[in-house]
Amino acid sequence: MKKLLVRAASGSSQILVGESIDNLKQYMDERHAVIITDRTVAGHYQKQFPKCPVILIDSGEQIKTLETVTTIFNQLVDLEADRSTLILGIGGGIVCDIAGFVASTYMRGTPFGFVSTTLLSQVDASVGGKNGVNFGGYKNMVGVFNQPAFVVCDMRLLKTLPFREIQCGFAEIIKHGAIADHRLLDFLENHRDAALDLESRIVEHLVYRSVEIKAGVVTRDEREKGERRKLNFGHTFGHAIEKLTGIPHGEAVGIGMVLAAALSVAKGLLSPADARRLERIIDSYGLPIRPPVDVQSMLAAMRKDKKREGERIHFVFLDALGSARVEEIEFEALHRLIKAAEMM
Ligand code: NAD
Repeated sequence: MKKLLVRAASGSSQILVGESIDNLKQYMDERHAVIITDRTVAGHYQKQFPKCPVILIDSGEQIKTLETVTTIFNQLVDLEADRSTLILGIGGGIVCDIAGFVASTYMRGTPFGFVSTTLLSQVDASVGGKNGVNFGGYKNMVGVFNQPAFVVCDMRLLKTLPFREIQCGFAEIIKHGAIADHRLLDFLENHRDAALDLESRIVEHLVYRSVEIKAGVVTRDEREKGERRKLNFGHTFGHAIEKLTGIPHGEAVGIGMVLAAALSVAKGLLSPADARRLERIIDSYGLPIRPPVDVQSMLAAMRKDKKREGERIHFVFLDALGSARVEEIEFEALHRLIKAAEMM
């Protein structure tokens, strides 16, 4: 087991990579805790949960809403949970986003921790202290920055994860390599089969390095005023695709990275060879690389992105594989760049 720390203004978080769900007692007092999990995860792992009350939610992006949060608040009141009650989210990104938001707002905040059960959540969603829900058709529109006390990343829990969800996790790992560490991309290329087979030594390295990159960025810029925006590489198009088609987050981000790399080439930043290499890596992990919707629709959806600032948007380009830059760009200029990249 390897430990990483996120030190941010809203609090500190220890990320325990390779820790077992069976060792949770070291990090919490199960007499003063309530678990939030989804039915699928409970179906697989409830026997291993600490002995405390369990609040069950359904799965799917459509349940990441204030209505679900209200239902959970009601159950916490019934359970007489108070400010000292630890909320333990056991699940993927959706459970963690909801549990973190509930814990940060119930009685003005209770302690919370996560057991991350999807690859995407281990390498991304559970780390960094963004907790929130969708609202009015916008993703993650309502939320808070607040760090979980701990995040347990137990790789053995990934064995029951559907293959498509595993692939989605790799999209975010590829993203971390693309923005911050070209050696991580080499590793992904050299160990693809073992990685997709979830060979423990390989996955542990990939999760650790991803968390290390994200934890570093979050420690330096928790509230996304600058460097943290780089973590949105592929997400501007990705969120638009996710919203328009309902395909999983990781798949949409994979396509978004291909498009953002093409724009980086059109802007004269990234070499065409490096863009092709990134596309090959995404493809080799079985992720889609072509947008299932037309560019006009994606642009229209982007205009509704909450990260939009008036006529401008922060867009993440690549200078090279392993190096990203954020530029504030007007929609008009983005449109021109898309034309220059022959994407429309
Ligand atoms: P998810 O939470 O929906 O989980 C995917 C599916 O796998 C669900 O059906 C779930 O029930 C099931 N599942 C979970 N663990 C399992 C296991 N061990 N075995 C079998 N099935 C299992 O999806 P996700 O990809 O983990 O998370 C996506 C969400 O995370 C999105 O809402 C996205 O916006 C959010 N996210 C948040 C952040 C952040 O910083 N807060 C970052 C990235 C993504």
